Amino acid sequence: MSKLTKEKQGYFGEFGGSFVPPELQEVMDVLAAEFEKYKIDPDFNEEFKYYLKEFVGRENPLTFAKQLTEDFGGAKVYLKREDLNHTGAHKINNVIGQILLAKRMGAKRIIAETGAGQHGVATATACSMFGIDCTIYMGKLDTERQALNVFRMELLGAKVVAVDKGQGRLKDAVDEALGDLVQNYKETFYLLGSAVGPHPYPSMVKHFQSVISEESKRQILEKEGRLPDAVIAVTGGGSNAIGAFSHYIDEPSVRLIGVEPDQAATLTHGTPAVIHGFKCLVLQDEEGNPQPTYSIAAGLDYPGIGPEHSFLKTTGRAEYYTVTKEEVLDAFKLLSKREGIIPALESAHAVAYAKKLAPELSKDSIIIINISGRGDKDVQHVYELLKK
Ligand SMILES: *Cc1c(COP(=O)(O)O)cnc(C)c1O
Repeated sequence: MSKLTKEKQGYFGEFGGSFVPPELQEVMDVLAAEFEKYKIDPDFNEEFKYYLKEFVGRENPLTFAKQLTEDFGGAKVYLKREDLNHTGAHKINNVIGQILLAKRMGAKRIIAETGAGQHGVATATACSMFGIDCTIYMGKLDTERQALNVFRMELLGAKVVAVDKGQGRLKDAVDEALGDLVQNYKETFYLLGSAVGPHPYPSMVKHFQSVISEESKRQILEKEGRLPDAVIAVTGGGSNAIGAFSHYIDEPSVRLIGVEPDQAATLTHGTPAVIHGFKCLVLQDEEGNPQPTYSIAAGLDYPGIGPEHSFLKTTGRAEYYTVTKEEVLDAFKLLSKREGIIPALESAHAVAYAKKLAPELSKDSIIIINISGRGDKDVQHVYELLKK
């Protein structure tokens, strides 16, 4: 691929791009070209839709939250139910898409990184169903903290490699996976879990997650005959949010709202920098090193953010706000008690912000909250937090 196309593709304003060693750049160029080819291939898209329906269980509902709407006393609240997908979250949408691409590219083996284990479990699940060899890289410290997820991945037939380098965390797992890719790229496909990383990953992950807003737009038009006033989603790396936003980005009447933990508020407090092979807003210390982040939701602990969110924030097309741990726990309890839905702690961030926004809007306004996942995985953790 020519230098010019490379520079034009994969940028969102100043953000995105690909900052990787030359040997990895070659792999990224091939991947970008194959993705461009297949994303408009009718057979490929039909196969993607087939597995989303038959394996993931899409389409999932857009549920009207009657009691939450009454409690908030303002806008009508709808919930996009990614929690009802097989494996319990939105991550599987992207995993299915990338595995289908890997198969078309002739890959014999899938590798992926995982932090808390959610992306690893989704990847192992889909590899099992497709009968494809799967290796998951996970920091050693994370394997100890998430022993049950390691067992889950192994049950699903994956090989879990505990990475004992560096701090034994997500970043070290990513480095190790990239090393594997450079050595074995001919038969190996690296399946990245969020809308981050070098081009073409952010665009590819967005493409596969866009099914969320493709459905929600159709569903809200059927139910209400008009577009929502706001769409709210939590942002970790940014994949569920970009998927929930994408079909509304060109609809200026729809507010796009991303919600971050106040102690990992990349979009609220970050400044531009290159991290993990791409440019985005990054939480940095005075020396320009990525800052350690903290979140009660393990899936949100990342000092960077997808390049397109960095762009949407800078241009003002999307708004980003923070919520506190206490607000998240309240929202987790509220949705459980009032709507019979135990949300993932990650998703509870979006609910927490909706609780602030809805009362400010009129009763004929509509907001959609993306419930990115179910909270069964978090019940033990919340139990321990509330017991103290
Ligand atoms: C991983 C995860 C997130 C955060 O990742 P994004 O890429 O920002 O979507 C949010 N919610 C759930 C349920 C997750 O598993």
